[in-house]
Amino acid sequence: MPNSNLLTIGPHTFSPGERGFVELPFGRSILHSDLCFGVHVFRGRKPGARLLVCAGVHGDEINGVEIARRLVAGFKSKRLSGDLVVAPIVNVPAFAARQRYLPDRRDLNRLFPGSAEGSHGARCAYVFMTEVAATCTHVIDLHTASNNRTNLPQLRIDFSPAGNRDFAGAFGAPVVLDSKSPPGSLRGELTALGKPSAVYEAGAAMTLDMPAVRYGLNGINNVMRHLGMLAPTKTRAKKHRTAFCKKSAWLRAPTGGIFRALVPLGRAASPDSPVGIVADPFSAHETPVYPDFEGIIIGRTNAPLVDEGDALFHIASHRDAGSAEQGIAASAEAVLSDTEEAPFEDSVVD
Ligand SMILES: [Zn+2]
Repeated sequence: MPNSNLLTIGPHTFSPGERGFVELPFGRSILHSDLCFGVHVFRGRKPGARLLVCAGVHGDEINGVEIARRLVAGFKSKRLSGDLVVAPIVNVPAFAARQRYLPDRRDLNRLFPGSAEGSHGARCAYVFMTEVAATCTHVIDLHTASNNRTNLPQLRIDFSPAGNRDFAGAFGAPVVLDSKSPPGSLRGELTALGKPSAVYEAGAAMTLDMPAVRYGLNGINNVMRHLGMLAPTKTRAKKHRTAFCKKSAWLRAPTGGIFRALVPLGRAASPDSPVGIVADPFSAHETPVYPDFEGIIIGRTNAPLVDEGDALFHIASHRDAGSAEQGIAASAEAVLSDTEEAPFEDSVVD
């Protein structure tokens, strides 16, 4: 067997067809113990794409960790082509502290590609980048909203590189948003290396949101079929319609007060009708909140109290938001009505 068919991650070399779990140390903790993150590896017997699914880059984003856990627990395909690499918790110190950021308050997702001699976070980023992410051909990085916000399940990817839009579209998320990543982010660094890399955003921090988990698992399954890693499904394909959006913006509070939303995530928004109300706590006066442009509501604040200028709704621009809203509702019904707990079991094509 040629060496090119071997995959080395940390101390372990995986042969085609091999599966396993490897722990990668990146530094010593304050208690003098090794700090590690773990990576599951599923190698197909046949060559193909090498998909990385990672979660927990932000330690308080639980949905992705649960998606990764279920992905590993439910993966039973014996006919895998290529390799599936799953890192359920990248930012282990932040996850253990139930916090978004590292113990030194840095954002791991601004420290890539990292440094072998930097802070804990920089070392974690470096080991993850060099040992894991750089060896993969495609990447899905699982996240949730932050700052007391909730996101509609959506993919974010840079539409510019050829193939990126199709890669993200295959996932079947309600919305795919064209977005560049900030410098130092995992997605940005991998995109610069020419690897199709998408962030899946769904739900809120420190919340386990099962529809977001189900959408995520279903989407990873769809992407693996798109990449030829799994055979096309013999059962009825889950229908999805994705709205591709080129830009988005936050709609901000026109005044301060008590905020309530009138329109849920996934619905169309237009300048003709209000999507929320900000009420003056000292009077009966209520200020309606109107969008600046037509689009889909892909995120919102969960805060009931807002100052003037606070971000209320994240709206992705769409020229036919009413039609997009119908597609989102139809795909939610198709994906979320599926009661199957382990979607990868039907990946066995025998
Ligand atoms: Zn995040």
